[in-house]
Amino acid sequence: MSKPKKVIPENIKPEVEVALRHFPELKHIPIEFKFKKNIKKSVMQAQPTFKDIFKAKENRSYKILISEKFKITGEEYRTTNVPKDVLIGWIGHELGHVMDYQNRSSLNLVAFGFRYAFLKEYVKKAERAADSFAVLRGMADYIIKTKQFILENAKIDPLYKERIKEYYLSPDEIMEMVKEKEEAIQE
Ligand SMILES: [Zn+2]
Repeated sequence: MSKPKKVIPENIKPEVEVALRHFPELKHIPIEFKFKKNIKKSVMQAQPTFKDIFKAKENRSYKILISEKFKITGEEYRTTNVPKDVLIGWIGHELGHVMDYQNRSSLNLVAFGFRYAFLKEYVKKAERAADSFAVLRGMADYIIKTKQFILENAKIDPLYKERIKEYYLSPDEIMEMVKEKEEAIQE
């Protein structure tokens, strides 16, 4: 019997499945979704499994770590309590990272890790690439809801908001991207 391709905690299974449906390319790629007590500077994090990093692309596997708690000033907020669509958008963004990783060679992926850790401009490029993958796979509405949830929520840590503004696509840029895509289809 072969191992299951996806490992998904029961309490986020419906949301993960909606997001996965937008990425048929990832159907045969093993991805483990896993809750963690806390993740530094973010809510979710997609990463390649290190032991598979030098294998052929189709044999790589990935982990998507999800912080149990969401960064909100003053009160504790569980990630599973955010609105359904917001969670789907968040997961879609992480699957966008996996798409980006799958397009890279092993050496490029290792170099990516270092650049991401040390270069601000590189973080921006990577985060915008992940957003773009999700938007172009038809997840624009979810991604916008996720951004709005963060940017318009008075209780969310201002530092985290700044990070989202600085590194990610804005709702306006996402709408522009959707428009361009529709125009390209009509031509
Ligand atoms: Zn990201």
